[in-house]
Amino acid sequence: MKIGCPTEIKPQEFRVGLTPSAALEAVNAGHEVIVQAGAGLGAGFEDSDYEAAGAKIIGTAEEIFAAADMIVKVKEPQAGERKMLREGQVLFTYLHLAPDPEQTKDLLASGATCIAYETVTDRSGGLPLLAPMSEVAGRLAPQVGAWTLQKANGGRGVLMGGVPGVGPARVMVIGGGVVGTHAARIAAGMGADVTVLDRSLPRMRYLDDIYGGTFKTSYASAQNTIELARQADMIIGAVLIPGAAAPKLISRAQLGELKPGAALVDVAIDQGGCFETSKATTHQDPVYEVDGIMHYCVANMPGAVARTSTIALGNATMPFMLDLANKGWRQACADDEHLLNGLNVHAGKLTYHAVGKALGIDV
Ligand code: NAD
Repeated sequence: MKIGCPTEIKPQEFRVGLTPSAALEAVNAGHEVIVQAGAGLGAGFEDSDYEAAGAKIIGTAEEIFAAADMIVKVKEPQAGERKMLREGQVLFTYLHLAPDPEQTKDLLASGATCIAYETVTDRSGGLPLLAPMSEVAGRLAPQVGAWTLQKANGGRGVLMGGVPGVGPARVMVIGGGVVGTHAARIAAGMGADVTVLDRSLPRMRYLDDIYGGTFKTSYASAQNTIELARQADMIIGAVLIPGAAAPKLISRAQLGELKPGAALVDVAIDQGGCFETSKATTHQDPVYEVDGIMHYCVANMPGAVARTSTIALGNATMPFMLDLANKGWRQACADDEHLLNGLNVHAGKLTYHAVGKALGIDV
């Protein structure tokens, strides 16, 4: 099969769909890999790295889309890219179709077979192609929060680990899933005093078993939430209710009860955010202030560490990409119900119920 990897063109996207290491695996499995010139530069991969892996460098996206049997990307195809997709071609990338009727219409019109990273599942009910980005965002959250806490950036001027004779920062993480657990581990590793709040008792039992000596857990009742928030230097929002907007857990009125210069890092901003005063920001201008409280609300946090994110995503997508290439999408999906769950669009038909429900299209 001919596998094509174009340069990402969505603004501020520096990741790339195929790493040289994934390209090498595909080449070793007998496939032809074509990569757009410069596609890996944002993630620190030179064209020569791909050539060394046996891939061919091609000048333009048009040539890649015209030649490839399967396109492997990171972000949903932009309008110009969607026009280049064709019947029989496989597209393997993040799609997030539910809130995007324009993209859905174009993908249906293309006749292509579109498999979305975000709906591929695993045996434990998780989302294996979303998890690496949650891990990245979670581990990044205390890092950006620590920067936000610095005086020059509007924060309280508190050091995460304190120093001998001065106590550490108090960090509260709301939501103890993938993002929250990774955030709590890193914050604790920086020396902060960390508490994770969740509403799932089984999850808190698990966290307590594994991380009992590293951070504390607390049930996320409204009362516990505001009591801990009053003492916190940093609050990391990491909740998720699948398929729903994030619940607002700290209201604007409650900001007045927090410590002046406290840092709110709302990782859940891509689901609308879990603080009432959150609004999405960018890496260029990530932090803003409301009532003396600093808010960091970047919706694509993994983009800040494009190299780590690309490699982490590539590690997760590679086995599926190879299956699709080795067996063809039909057989690969027939053999693996979890990959089949990724199928969102095929030959002009929507094949994913939740997207159909969101957009009012029959599936
Ligand atoms: P997850 O499903 O692994 O964890 C979510 C946790 O929230 C669960 O443990 C759940 O029990 C808990 N929860 C739900 N409602 C709660 C409530 N009211 N109070 C306390 N806890 C509650 O999800 P995840 O992968 O950790 O993702 C968390 C959020 O981060 C999602 O919104 C995801 O989209 C977002 N995210 C954002 C970025 C970014 O760049 N901003 C990157 C990755 C993930």
